[in-house]
Amino acid sequence: MLTTKPRGTNDIIPGEVEKWQYIEDVIRDVCRIYGYREIRTPVFEHTELFKRGVGETTDIVEKEMYTFKDRGDRSITLRPEGTASVVRAYLENNLHAGPQPVKLYYIGPMFRYDRPQAGRYRQFHQFGVEVLGAHSAGIDAEVMAMAMEVYRRLGLKDLELHINSLGCPECRPKFRSSLQEFFRPRLEEFCPTCQDRFERNPLRILDCKNKKCRQLAAGAPAILDCLCDRCAAFFEEVKRHLEELGIDYIVDKNLVRGLDYYTHTAFEVMAKGIGAQSSVGGGGRYNGLVEACGGKDTPGIGYALGLERILLAMEQQGVEFPPPWRPDVFVVTASPQAEYAAFKLLAELRNLGYRADKDYNGRSLKAQMKYAGKLNARYTVIIGENELENGTAVVKDMITGEQREITREKIPEIIGR
Ligand code: AMP
Repeated sequence: MLTTKPRGTNDIIPGEVEKWQYIEDVIRDVCRIYGYREIRTPVFEHTELFKRGVGETTDIVEKEMYTFKDRGDRSITLRPEGTASVVRAYLENNLHAGPQPVKLYYIGPMFRYDRPQAGRYRQFHQFGVEVLGAHSAGIDAEVMAMAMEVYRRLGLKDLELHINSLGCPECRPKFRSSLQEFFRPRLEEFCPTCQDRFERNPLRILDCKNKKCRQLAAGAPAILDCLCDRCAAFFEEVKRHLEELGIDYIVDKNLVRGLDYYTHTAFEVMAKGIGAQSSVGGGGRYNGLVEACGGKDTPGIGYALGLERILLAMEQQGVEFPPPWRPDVFVVTASPQAEYAAFKLLAELRNLGYRADKDYNGRSLKAQMKYAGKLNARYTVIIGENELENGTAVVKDMITGEQREITREKIPEIIGR
């Protein structure tokens, strides 16, 4: 128990963490260029926020939340996604009172009580962006372009951008009824979940992974055929903006997000060849969400991508990561008397900006050299009795094996920057 982590969680240990840092660096660079600023919200919120902000009929709220009573008897939930918290923070911190739009991003852990499998965990990490207060189609394209830019910079290939429009509160009721008409005659043949969704949220039937349901839903009316003129024109504009940037997309009429406040653009990015969990990110417009969370009518759009899935996709596609951490220089103490001089030299090298380290376990000279080799140190600097007397050090190039004795001030000249 004490040495076993909870199911569905992961330790990210050195060797692995460098990959995460690399991905996060790429993400932060892209956000800087696109003008998105970071927001950090709590990992837990009042349960009500997610019920309202994610939606009572979603799998997340119905089955997957980590909800508990705190010691003050308040219902608290570990955040299952980022959007609701960002919208709450936008309202609570009066970000709506400043210049609009507000473009935000976050990176952090999310929690869902799901059945763990490769690429699906109970604690996982998402990078997400949210734009609040912008209504034109260009921003939808920008958000998609930005997601694709992150994947491109990470070296991911064979990605598909699937897009759809979910209409608006004006045209969706029409679509909802035509879907119900289509499903009604064979309703008993659908899985129990879909039967349950029929009244509450028939759009989500299109989203069911069950094979039988998929067959039954084939040929169902497409929302794209039910869009009102304004929504159809908006979708055309979004596509045109993507085309201007040369971004390929696939119109996928089965791509749905079944909640009332999701409007217009919905999109998802799939990576080929990473198995069942092929979605590496998704998002869309949610013009009704801010209002549902207690604010004024404010347009919003965002997306989130799963960092574990990105990493998995990168590994499966054989993408190269930057080399792992190694010391530039390892200081070796060749006699006990040299200990203090070595310790001081280590500090001086670090002050000059070198990645430097030394032994702290009283290893013999030979064992220190072996250890430096294991750490993959580029150079070792050896100080023994002679060097202590002469104010010198022996610098060894760990690749060529070459070594020479020099005065200590000259070390940077030899090992370079
Ligand atoms: P969602 O918030 O469900 O739209 O998910 C956005 C992205 O987060 C997905 O495309 C996945 O990459 C990732 N994701 C969602 N759920 C999990 C999970 N349980 N484990 C790992 N990644 C996940």
